[in-house]
Amino acid sequence: MLTYWAERAWLEGPEGPGPAESVAIETAEGRITSVITGVPPAGATILRGLVLPGLANAHSHAFHRALRGRAHDRGGTFWEWRSRMYALAGRLDPDSYFRLARAVYAEMALAGITCVGEFHYLHHAPGGRPYSDPNAMGHALTAAAAEAGIRITLLDALYLTGGFGEPLDGVQRRFGDGGLDAWMNRVDKIEAAPHVAVGAAVHSVRAVPEAAIAAFARSGDGRPVHVHVSEQPAENAACRAEHGCSPTELLERCGLLGPDTTAVHATHPTEHDLELLRRSGTTVCLCPTTERDLADGIGPARAMAEAGIPLTLGTDSAAVIDMFEEARAVEMHERLVSQRRGHFTTAELLAAMTGHDSLGWSDAGRIAPGRRADLVAVALDSTRTAGIAPDGILHAASAADVTDVVVDGRRVVADGRHTAIDAAAELAETIAELWT
Ligand SMILES: [Zn+2]
Repeated sequence: MLTYWAERAWLEGPEGPGPAESVAIETAEGRITSVITGVPPAGATILRGLVLPGLANAHSHAFHRALRGRAHDRGGTFWEWRSRMYALAGRLDPDSYFRLARAVYAEMALAGITCVGEFHYLHHAPGGRPYSDPNAMGHALTAAAAEAGIRITLLDALYLTGGFGEPLDGVQRRFGDGGLDAWMNRVDKIEAAPHVAVGAAVHSVRAVPEAAIAAFARSGDGRPVHVHVSEQPAENAACRAEHGCSPTELLERCGLLGPDTTAVHATHPTEHDLELLRRSGTTVCLCPTTERDLADGIGPARAMAEAGIPLTLGTDSAAVIDMFEEARAVEMHERLVSQRRGHFTTAELLAAMTGHDSLGWSDAGRIAPGRRADLVAVALDSTRTAGIAPDGILHAASAADVTDVVVDGRRVVADGRHTAIDAAAELAETIAELWT
């Protein structure tokens, strides 16, 4: 048994969620066993600042981290960025994929992320040839998460076409399994581990034909399913030309929407799309720092929240790995669009930052007895946060203010340092190697 004592902790109190003072959190075997406010118990590990539940990064492509600061040419579009990303994807092998992901997941741990939803599509060797372990790339990711000390939901993506009715081309051949059955056979062989949940993904309506999406949906067995939806207007236009409907309408027609499904982005939905998402209980994962980095546009976050659509957040292309910045961007982008302030409460944004449900870990995301012992201490005395009211933390803190992180009862970050990995050194070394 291990007891933590938090100066302040974010609890779901009788008067609603908010910061409570002087909170003793007892843990055993990776779970919280009791939460009591009062004086610090003898021998407790002290966590200063404000302790939040573990943060969930619901949408990541870890290898995109190697593009950060390297793809900002004047006049570029999403599609030009994608060609740069494909060049990077062409260089990775299981060893470099593992080393890069290990450093990226350490960066996530340092930012207070205790679980990542890794949307994984780089499956095979160049040309599409399977590795001797056909899940060598996926296993590189799960091993990387283990070493970084965070949980992972491996959202293995079905990827069959290079565009509507087009064969896979060039580096895309590394993404494809040739058909749904071959993809299922491979995904069935992904090794289980206590820190791993195996989910599934349809890359997008561009990358999977309608019949295969429908068959995929029929094979659903309750695991989390993620799908990129309406990130770019060009995707909507191409879908209308091919299928006579929006991407969301196509997914509904195929039976893919539902409470186990997360639509990633949904930046350009129609009113009808929002109604379909709401009615089906589908979650939407917003990735605002990527959406602005790639000039995707601003999704209608408040309209989604008003409709009762559950929202989560993801770092997607890793242009930024900072869930505070993602949450703040949801509010700030809405202000820019509406020219009005104050759209989301701190509790709403924190709920989006802790969307472990959408990754298949419904027992995480709250500081309460029986929940996974995921704790994130955020400094209230840094130059950024000094003097703020604790419930204003999402308007002041950044990932750099995270001082201590506990994942499933294990201390992964202590005093602002990862306990096992020098993330900055490993990122610098691995990324330099990839670009030489
Ligand atoms: Zn993505």
